[in-house]
Amino acid sequence: MSDKYLEIANSALGKKIFNAVGLPDPVPLLREDATQPHKLSGQLLLGESLGAVFAKSIGAFVESAGIKRYSESLEGRGHLVFDASGIANAQQSTQLHSFFSQHLKSLAPSGRVIVIGHKPSALRDTEHAAIQRGLVGFVKSLAKEIGRKGATANLVFVDNGGDRALEGPIRFLLSAGSAFMNAQVLTVATPVAALADSKDVDWAKPLAGKTVLVTGAARGIGLAISQTMARDGAVVIGVDVPQSQDDLAAAMKAIGGLSLPLDITDADAPERLRGFCSAHSPTLHAVVHNAGVTRDKMLSRMTAHQWDLLMQINFDAVQRINKALLQTELLDDGGKIIGIASISGIAGNIGQTNYGFSKAAIIGMVEALAEPCAARGITINGVAPGFIETQMTAAIPFFTRQMGRRLSSLGQGGLPVDVAEVIGFFVSPQAAGINGNMVRVCGQSLLGA
Ligand code: NAD
Repeated sequence: MSDKYLEIANSALGKKIFNAVGLPDPVPLLREDATQPHKLSGQLLLGESLGAVFAKSIGAFVESAGIKRYSESLEGRGHLVFDASGIANAQQSTQLHSFFSQHLKSLAPSGRVIVIGHKPSALRDTEHAAIQRGLVGFVKSLAKEIGRKGATANLVFVDNGGDRALEGPIRFLLSAGSAFMNAQVLTVATPVAALADSKDVDWAKPLAGKTVLVTGAARGIGLAISQTMARDGAVVIGVDVPQSQDDLAAAMKAIGGLSLPLDITDADAPERLRGFCSAHSPTLHAVVHNAGVTRDKMLSRMTAHQWDLLMQINFDAVQRINKALLQTELLDDGGKIIGIASISGIAGNIGQTNYGFSKAAIIGMVEALAEPCAARGITINGVAPGFIETQMTAAIPFFTRQMGRRLSSLGQGGLPVDVAEVIGFFVSPQAAGINGNMVRVCGQSLLGA
């Protein structure tokens, strides 16, 4: 669905009027070029604090990835990356202030700020740990300052052993695919499975030879996830309710995928799903639990049916499918499980006690399964979308819809593809160090911030 406010704000006349009356004027975000996905370009300034430990490896990778790197100042505008891992006390934090206050004017519209730090709990020195935690507040505040120009700021915390796996998240954050991921913290740790070297990955088709399963694939975010995975070379097995089988079949045909009309709450759904997958491929690379519904009502008027139906689709079916898959070796070594939560599961939302509960439980699932999955070479991560332009949000009343869009630091709603690109990163060959992460894809919505 189109965002008329965004269109008017970016017309010549609209720009003048919006500036004159002081209305927020969000800019259209740059997204992946379908003909050259994952291609990195432009320039970046890489700064580091004294005692920083990660900048060296980032510098080497960036140059080989096609981005021009500067260490003193940019010629023109570009991205700003700062390794703050050496900052261990208040005096040293001046280095962070100095870098950004000096160079922020060189940040490109839709540019990226990336700050890198140590995961605080991995540090022995308590003052060092405390001040590294401070980077979260810094990045979230900076994201609010730069969002109006479509620029984002994110933080990467490196856990023990995560330095080897840092390239994947940096590459993704520098790409156009991270357009609507803003003010988030990614934690990178020891890879749970083999980690591909950037030079060995065919970035035109990073998922070539992989099979992925996507539930709720007939429309909305699930369709975008399927299209993005297919663009990246995967064979997609799309699942959706039998009532949507024509849409599902057309969608899968268009991307060379396979369709499985199935209600995931059916008693035999997990076994049928597993059987279908193993009949088509000896291994499954990823399962994306996207199917979900809302059944909004004030709790005092919510029927047991509205509660139960939602919990069965949004949570119970997900658990049963995971169990069925994990009972076998179908998920390959390096396999991925992806949960879809929601901002409602973080902030809560009026009339959504059932939905908020189910989505917070998905966050719980990612947290609870991270360790047991890692022991099997599998990662589990999740996304919590904010306001995304789909049929689900098109049904929201006009003024609430406008509020939902403008409440983000980027001043607009996201597109289904924005959620899909983050998931594409989670399942990519360089994400083996990303496990147990829950990332909001919300443009830094004020809700639940
Ligand atoms: P959507 O309603 O457009 O699509 C959901 C799909 O899931 C539909 O095709 C539907 O038929 C399918 N589905 C529902 N029940 C099913 C079942 N029992 N078995 C199989 N398939 C089933 O929704 P969307 O906006 O694309 O949302 C996708 C996911 O993202 C959901 O989990 C939703 O909760 C979550 N989400 C969406 C937003 C948003 O702004 N749109 C925000 C936060 C989270």
